[in-house]
Amino acid sequence: MNDHGLSLGRSAGIRDGRLRDGGATGAGVAAATSLDDYADLQRGEVALWSSPQLADRPLIVPRRAVVTDDRNVQPSAAPAETMLTARGVTKSYRRGEHVIPVLHGVDVDIRGGEFLAIIGQSGSGKSTLLHLLGTLDRPDDGEIYFEGHRIDNLSPAGRDVLRNRHFGMIFQFYHLLPEFTALQNVLAPLMIGNGLFTYLASRRRLRAQATELLDMVGLGHRLRHKPRELSGGELQRAAIARALVSQPRVLLADEPTGNLDQGTGEEIMRILRTLNREQKLTIVMVTHDAAIAASADRQVRLVEGRLAQA
Ligand code: ADP
Ligand code: MG
Repeated sequence: MNDHGLSLGRSAGIRDGRLRDGGATGAGVAAATSLDDYADLQRGEVALWSSPQLADRPLIVPRRAVVTDDRNVQPSAAPAETMLTARGVTKSYRRGEHVIPVLHGVDVDIRGGEFLAIIGQSGSGKSTLLHLLGTLDRPDDGEIYFEGHRIDNLSPAGRDVLRNRHFGMIFQFYHLLPEFTALQNVLAPLMIGNGLFTYLASRRRLRAQATELLDMVGLGHRLRHKPRELSGGELQRAAIARALVSQPRVLLADEPTGNLDQGTGEEIMRILRTLNREQKLTIVMVTHDAAIAASADRQVRLVEGRLAQA
């Protein structure tokens, strides 16, 4: 194990009937296909799996309370009850010879079930921070934790699994696949997450699940429409359904109403509030708009690369 409690599986390939891959950072990734396999994973290992029985198991196998066989394991810097934590996160971009500092030490604790809005002016680093929280990019320094486990140093495979299974993301410009229908766009994460074979075997159930979500966001009558045949509000509804289809623990929203008129933006915010209140979905939304941020339970402001009370 390394000092974050992630096991160091160095060999890639099938071992003991399971796929293991140490990955670049040494975070163990293993594919479990049954409950027995899952129980067998080493503590702290990142689990990939394909069985529906395992759908509600934590992605990162909980560490034992007392670790007697590894003196290197250190307690996590994240409070146990938080879902997402950033500690001293810094990030700069390099453009030619210039270094553009963006984040100067961001600290934040996001509780499970919370709806947090991060407000900041254009260019203040909101998208940068959201991408770091969602493991789309890595900080220069500092740490990010999900459910108490460090995630900023996961291997690329571990990050892919984390995003596919536990993080839903929506963006200002929707990022739907233009050649796919609304339904196919919502199904895409399931195809990727399950693998084609498992996906095809359970296609009927998964299609029903995706259709139900599109119905829930008010798009049941647009299943077979392609993005170019949908309005801005409809595109964002489809993107929300896509973000929810893997039943994520956290929804990360980057200016979700930034491209919509006020009324349509309010409809999208109603959907997000409902998901938060009724399904206890944890939401982290970044926006430049204080009126939109007012929908959240708590607001913080990104100023000069750090978070402050709004
Ligand atoms: P916001 O989402 O608050 O508008 P961003 O996080 O997108 O801000 O960007 C913060 C700063 O970092 C801006 O000055 C932007 O130009 C710069 N920036 C963002 N992404 C990159 C990149 N990939 N390369 C260079 N500079 C970038
Ligand atoms: Mg942005």
